[in-house]
Amino acid sequence: MKAAVVTVGDEILIGQIVDTNSAYIAKSLDKIGISVFEMFSVSDDRRHILDTLAYLQNRVQVVIVTGGLGPTKDDITKSTFCEYFDDHLVRNEEVEAHVVQLIEKAMNRPASQMNKDQALVPSKAKVLHNAVGTAPGMWMKRADTVFISLPGVPYEMKYIMEHEVLPKLVAEFERPYIIHKTILTYGQGESLVAERIESWEDNLPKFIKLAYLPSPGKVRLRLSAHGNDEAELRNAVEAEAAKLQDIIGDIIVGMDEDDPIEVVIGRLMQEKGVTVAAAESCTGGRVGTLFTSVPGSSAYFKGSAVTYATESKIKVLGVEHQLIDIYSPVSAKVAEVMATRAKKLFGTDYAVSTTGNAGPSKGDAAADVGTVFIGVATPNGVYSHKFDFGQPREKVIARASEKALELLYKEILKN
Ligand code: ATP
Repeated sequence: MKAAVVTVGDEILIGQIVDTNSAYIAKSLDKIGISVFEMFSVSDDRRHILDTLAYLQNRVQVVIVTGGLGPTKDDITKSTFCEYFDDHLVRNEEVEAHVVQLIEKAMNRPASQMNKDQALVPSKAKVLHNAVGTAPGMWMKRADTVFISLPGVPYEMKYIMEHEVLPKLVAEFERPYIIHKTILTYGQGESLVAERIESWEDNLPKFIKLAYLPSPGKVRLRLSAHGNDEAELRNAVEAEAAKLQDIIGDIIVGMDEDDPIEVVIGRLMQEKGVTVAAAESCTGGRVGTLFTSVPGSSAYFKGSAVTYATESKIKVLGVEHQLIDIYSPVSAKVAEVMATRAKKLFGTDYAVSTTGNAGPSKGDAAADVGTVFIGVATPNGVYSHKFDFGQPREKVIARASEKALELLYKEILKN
């Protein structure tokens, strides 16, 4: 079953606001087995909206339109719906009572005529109640396509989607099941992962689709199965995921999760009852930010010393002057000593450290731009790895921070 999303508003087309409504709607529809086939952003223009509705007629079964319902630029969507459906506006008493009550309560003044006119809806529309705002949603059908109009304000749109649109779609349409499973891998790029799983991918059953969702340092593999037998789909997806575990188990850090590494690692640390600290140079606190973005992380994350300047590495962490002179601040040795001292300073089981040159120009060390050393101190010792994260600076910092967590994750798994 196919749907389309249409956002109405010049604000989107001139880049003044970002269209987050479409993503929310697509995700919500996907959960109930309706696939979004196309998305459109159109101007506040009657002809443009009419052409879009006509184009989508019978091409998809559901069209969800957001925006252009407010009292000010009034009814560009509403009047256009009237024109498209050869209809006229009528006053809906329930909506008017709701609008009057909402305005009086929220604004402490009587509702104006403009407010009351929000209760004008096309006579053929089923009204979708908007408990959190004054512009009602509308549901209209022509031939094989349902057209739904919702306000542009995101929390109003979400309210009507959740309380009115989704239950109605579930009740009125027979939909296939869609089962997703997301497998999170760390440490290898998309093309390398693709090469390793090529023959598995080629042999996937036709009803299972694979999507690569890469972001710096990690690749999510999303399996999506479409069909009518839910149990059969689940079994097939689980069987394929198990095969994947045999092929690339070394880089899989989580199954069934959209969770980022900081959440995965937090769970693992709590399960094992271990703690961690960090000593950061080139990441400037990003490792600490990743850890603390997870609620409850104080149970295992004890702190991060951001020792950016060489003198801070000496003063705060006690890295010996001679070591820095001999090896340079961006070196394996200094990364290892930073990790060891952070572990001691914070009294933790593990510690990670970063020292590198994020660029764009060379700093006070001789290391090339993009070079980062990451140290990991564990209950059994300390080691470090050298990386070249290239450029730009922002990427080096993001990759180094994620890599530190990934190396730590692998160490904790071992112990
Ligand atoms: P209202 O009259 O109550 O403001 P409306 O239906 O007329 O509702 P618009 O005027 O199109 O909606 O948009 C109102 C506000 O909602 C915009 O200024 C913007 O902040 C937000 N908005 C609209 N469309 C979107 C969208 N697609 N994604 C995210 N935000 C949106």
